[in-house]
Amino acid sequence: KAKTKGKNNYIFFSQDIVDDYDRYEMKNDLYEAVNNDGFHLVYQPKCACHTNKITGFEALIRWEHPARGFVSPESFIPVAEETGLIHPIGDWVLDEACRQIREWRDMGMTDVTVAINVSAVQFAKESILDDICGAVRRHDIPFSALIIEITEGMAMQNPQWTIEVLKGLRKKGILVHLDDFGTGFSSFNYLSRFPVDAIKIDRSFVQNIGIDQRDTSIVNALLGIVSSLGLNVVAEGVETKEQADYLQENGCLELQGFYFSRPLSSNDAAHLYKQKIIP
Ligand code: C2E
Ligand code: CA
Ligand code: CA
Ligand code: CA
Repeated sequence: KAKTKGKNNYIFFSQDIVDDYDRYEMKNDLYEAVNNDGFHLVYQPKCACHTNKITGFEALIRWEHPARGFVSPESFIPVAEETGLIHPIGDWVLDEACRQIREWRDMGMTDVTVAINVSAVQFAKESILDDICGAVRRHDIPFSALIIEITEGMAMQNPQWTIEVLKGLRKKGILVHLDDFGTGFSSFNYLSRFPVDAIKIDRSFVQNIGIDQRDTSIVNALLGIVSSLGLNVVAEGVETKEQADYLQENGCLELQGFYFSRPLSSNDAAHLYKQKIIP
């Protein structure tokens, strides 16, 4: 009996070591990347429903590991959050997005907006408002050119703090979008108290439009609630014409997804923006 137990323990233990090692290695590699310009941003267009014009872009971080190749933000952002490396990474994203807005404005793209994703760990920082405003001022861009995306889940972690920060951002004229909407547990009560400008309906709902009757009705219900609160709706993860048509007919203002464009390099993004209309 004791032997079996020992064996099981050993297997369990060694598996743990493997996982810990991977995390440890990723942490070191992330640290390297932070110090050696290892990240870049790509830009996915958002398109106004009724005109098909690009209104702006969502900036998404990319990490090209020297040996492993592309590592998804879905796997490294959580490690960055646990290790605190999200602070320098988040600062870099903020600075780089503002620098890109400056560059695009200098090229004549004066209406362009760029949305960045802010992590819960970053958002909880006392200095978050100053950090964001500092980057905007450093690059001498209008506050209205930057959009902050926070997830519904993180807004609900500390609603009081969230409301305070959102009020501060809004006072400056920085727009805030509530990301991954529908996946968290916001009560309507809180939804109406978060001073956000738009909500982004999560991809998981959009994907099942026309396929899954239940998800289609959930999308309808969400669109109804959101519009009754006077908020704009952005749909993410739009992959088909059917989804795009449905969302447009049901009151979505902006659409984003592979149907229109994948995330692009800054050069390709500028090129597409100049054509104004998404094909
Ligand atoms: P998100 O904020 O929900 O971003 C949307 C994700 O959906 C992106 O994945 C995007 O490439 C993908 N996507 C867009 N359109 C479609 C579509 O039509 N179909 C499908 N299947 N996918 C689509 P990505 O770039 O891998 O980012 C994943 C997540 O990582 C993001 O989800 C966000 O939570 C996080 N993330 C990305 N960049 C940053 C960043 O700079 N900072 C922080 N804190 N998080 C980031
Ligand atoms: Ca987002
Ligand atoms: Ca999202
Ligand atoms: Ca998501």
